[in-house]
Amino acid sequence: MKLVLATSNKGKVREIKALCEDYEVIPYSELIEEFEIIEDGDTFKENALIKARAVFNAINDEDIVVLADDSGISVDVLDGEPGIYSARYAGPEADDKDNLYKLIDDIKAKGVKSSPAHYTAAIAIVTKNAEYCVHGWMHGTALAEAIGDGGFGYDPMFIPLGYDKTLGELDDDVKKKLSHRAKALSLAKIILKSF
Ligand code: IMP
Repeated sequence: MKLVLATSNKGKVREIKALCEDYEVIPYSELIEEFEIIEDGDTFKENALIKARAVFNAINDEDIVVLADDSGISVDVLDGEPGIYSARYAGPEADDKDNLYKLIDDIKAKGVKSSPAHYTAAIAIVTKNAEYCVHGWMHGTALAEAIGDGGFGYDPMFIPLGYDKTLGELDDDVKKKLSHRAKALSLAKIILKSF
């Protein structure tokens, strides 16, 4: 089955491909020109569905299955920020590094060196017949520093529960087992198998 991904985020595409080896996973930008999707939902679920629907409608092929991931990190000492705004935390043009260092600065500004935090992933699936959405979470600690250069996004400042190293230092296999995305995708695969 061809799975079209409603993202061109290289980190997400790499992880989803590694976790969905039984499917032909194609970022939508390989089929049509990339376009801006306004993610104006109030939840990860709404934004994942907005992205999946937008790509399904733009491709205009009833046989495709579109999968979208909306994800982010929520930090307790910042009352759950940046949450659904993780991709735009340092501003509309911000890249992963800008967002990472803004989050580090904001945690430092609270006068702490770390805070409990968690990642959320909502995975939406849109087909011609139906829409679905599943979630996964990964809990741990957000540090007020970046260590290691593995993973992507906020990974160098995040230590998963039960570990003493950041996702920037740990092997990809660790994230493959316990990440928010891996957990949501394991539920998504149950839906995909039913097609
Ligand atoms: P989205 O593409 O709108 O869902 O934005 C996701 C944001 O959360 C981006 O800034 C990502 O870098 C960040 N993010 C999501 N998942 C992860 C992850 O697994 N590791 C690190 N950062 C992540």
